[in-house]
Amino acid sequence: MSLLIENGTVLTGGKAAAVLTGHSVLIENGCITSIAPKNRFKRFAGKRIDATRKVVTPGFINAHTHFYSTFARGLTKTKPAGNFVDVLKNLWWRLDSALSTEDCYYSALIALLDSIRHGTTTLIDHHASPQAVRGSLPAIEKAVKQTGLRACLCYELSDRDGARISKEGLEENVAFIRRCQKPEDRRRRAEDRGQNSAVQGSRFKVQGSKFAALPQPSTLNPQPTTSALFGLHAAFTLKDATLEKAAALGQELGTGFHIHVAEAESDQQYSQQKHHLRVVERLHKFGILGPRSIAAHCVHVNRRELDILSRTQTAVVHNPQSNLNNAVGIADVVFMAKRNVLVGLGTDAMTTNMLEELRVAVWAQHLRAQDPSVGFSEVVSALIFNNPIIAERTFNLSLGELREGCPGDVVLIDYDPPTPLEADNSFGHIVFGMSQAAVDTTIVGGRVLMENKRLTLDLDEPRINARARELAAMLWKRL
Ligand SMILES: [Zn+2]
Repeated sequence: MSLLIENGTVLTGGKAAAVLTGHSVLIENGCITSIAPKNRFKRFAGKRIDATRKVVTPGFINAHTHFYSTFARGLTKTKPAGNFVDVLKNLWWRLDSALSTEDCYYSALIALLDSIRHGTTTLIDHHASPQAVRGSLPAIEKAVKQTGLRACLCYELSDRDGARISKEGLEENVAFIRRCQKPEDRRRRAEDRGQNSAVQGSRFKVQGSKFAALPQPSTLNPQPTTSALFGLHAAFTLKDATLEKAAALGQELGTGFHIHVAEAESDQQYSQQKHHLRVVERLHKFGILGPRSIAAHCVHVNRRELDILSRTQTAVVHNPQSNLNNAVGIADVVFMAKRNVLVGLGTDAMTTNMLEELRVAVWAQHLRAQDPSVGFSEVVSALIFNNPIIAERTFNLSLGELREGCPGDVVLIDYDPPTPLEADNSFGHIVFGMSQAAVDTTIVGGRVLMENKRLTLDLDEPRINARARELAAMLWKRL
């Protein structure tokens, strides 16, 4: 299967960050095999996609989300929440505790279809369904495979629902991580064992760019579409014994962790009162941090904690819309970047549209600093440069870049720039122009998932929406 995208303005992303006109992008067997002047492809006989008056750009990556949140949309049966812990207790923990396996599947399917429409091609999900732990990740995986997107899944292990469910959470993570690891992965990861926390080893040295992806050879194969991390809810719902068990299993499997960190000040207060350690210090003590791990939020971390995150090469994922919605504060992305912390951008399920999240991230940094010149490049870099590094660490693929040898994850946006678009001003076009334009075509691994704004998948969307509405209504009744 080969595909030629022609007549568009190509924004390559990646280190080259070039803007190319008069070039076509050739995708063969799922990978980009050539980006060259249009006349080179005169004899091309496969499928052609005309990108006239469109920008051709890498698919976007969402580095932290929760598919199950789909079923909270329009939910009015919640008590008012005066703080973040109330938001969890009154809404999210009631909702996730009522989820069935079918709910997990359908809520994921809806979120994934929505992602295709917004040009988001890779997602890193964090899942909870305490009454339906077993089999929840394979159910979500089924939705991922049906939509053709890439997703990294995990189950958010927690002690908040008691020992039995905590044990199931451990087991669901382990089973799914094993399912995603190929035999050669297991061999390689066994060799790497322990390096998630011991980052001083030469294999993890940063080379070339400030933040290196893990130095495994990219296979140039557009598979896999799913990968796994070891999910943990948050430090304040995890006992020491559980963290210890998770850390040991994670190390044995050679995987990283995905956890909410210091989202609200209350997480820090609890940690200091109960454990006499800051949240990041406690996670570090157990070996949860490392170059494969993701710490979502980090709104309330101090300089010492940032230095631990930097030293361990742990990725932080910033989710500004969620933080503003929960009124927990605004993470200091600028200072994180200054302290050499790898910061990416997620949506925490507030949207599937990464460019919407990006705009809010920019305004929030301006407001936080009370200075409109602060935070622009750090935040756009988080989406355009850092999210691909975070995704590469788990998929072992060079994502977020249009380059020969990279997977053919490409998005076409209805944007015919009304002012000069060049490599050095592309961030301005992304934030102020492309973010306001419609996504026309979404391609993952050379497979066209949406063309001319119509999904091309063999899925009956009206039927899926109808079933999701039925399931959500039943779920709300159970709350
Ligand atoms: Zn989250």
